[in-house]
Amino acid sequence: MGDMPEARELRIAIDIDGVLADQVGAVLKVIEKEYGQKYCKSDVNQAHWSFAGGELWSEIGRLLADPEYTLSLPLIEGSQRGVKQLIDHEPFVVTARRPNAEEATKQWLNAHFPCLKDYYHASTGTKHNIPSDVLIDDLDLNIVEFVKSHPDRHGILFLHPWSINDTDIEDYSNQVYYCPEWHSVVEALDDIDRAV
Ligand SMILES: [Mg+2]
Repeated sequence: MGDMPEARELRIAIDIDGVLADQVGAVLKVIEKEYGQKYCKSDVNQAHWSFAGGELWSEIGRLLADPEYTLSLPLIEGSQRGVKQLIDHEPFVVTARRPNAEEATKQWLNAHFPCLKDYYHASTGTKHNIPSDVLIDDLDLNIVEFVKSHPDRHGILFLHPWSINDTDIEDYSNQVYYCPEWHSVVEALDDIDRAV
């Protein structure tokens, strides 16, 4: 009895855009409507992606200032089921969304992911400052800074066409998992859980 190893909860930081919310899918629809230009996700081949009307990131920032847009953002497939499977751990949210989107973002989270209580804001490239064992994020820039900050930390790169940018992520292959959908995220977390 007393020799049972104590189960260790992983602190899991989860990014919102590209991991829980299909932000790029939503913004591409707006670009089509407002600029008359049709793009698909595979066209968005880097984090700092520009289209003929402007820059994707500034477009997202502009749209997120509108609570109606933020509240209506669609989910990444499988995300609700995936997050529910993390109940043995300590999952929470970390996002680079600006403070002006925080209230609507928290309402959206409460509606779709009621078990995610804690909410941290961290600008892109600074998510490693949030105390956590694992970071799930769709940008290599965040994953590299995170795993680089401590050898015991693991990063799960949620793979989209824009996820791989010009980083040295390959140098951290023993700490990084590449997951194209939520099912494999959950598998990666089981793997990390067994290893620690
Ligand atoms: Mg993201």
